[in-house]
Amino acid sequence: MRPPTKEEFDQLREKTLAARESAYCPYSKFRVGACLLTTSGSFITGANVENASYPAGICAERTALVKAITEGHKDFVCIAVATDINPAASPCGICRQTMREFCDVGMPVYMFTPDGKSEVMKLDELLPRSFGPDDLPK
Ligand SMILES: [Zn+2]
Repeated sequence: MRPPTKEEFDQLREKTLAARESAYCPYSKFRVGACLLTTSGSFITGANVENASYPAGICAERTALVKAITEGHKDFVCIAVATDINPAASPCGICRQTMREFCDVGMPVYMFTPDGKSEVMKLDELLPRSFGPDDLPK
């Protein structure tokens, strides 16, 4: 695990905040942007995509993760999320569990306010005593 460099962090903040523009949220009007930084230096963005059948919607963080995984990315430096509220919102429980499937529990999760201030927590702080792939019998 390595933290993002200063340059990567600046790009992460910019891309995460900008990803909100891609949100499809006619029902909640709650825009969310997310961005994953891969160990190879790629930035994979996502936004929330709602549905008239509400449970069919997907969060920004899972959009980014699904894009990353299906594009062949497996190793991540960090993930970030941004909304239009202050203080910064944190990922929902389903997203935390999805991160747990693909990310190291020590991975930093950055949460940005609309003006770009951030808080950070490690995945295992957001999802303590989590259940993951290694817990299943081999
Ligand atoms: Zn979520």
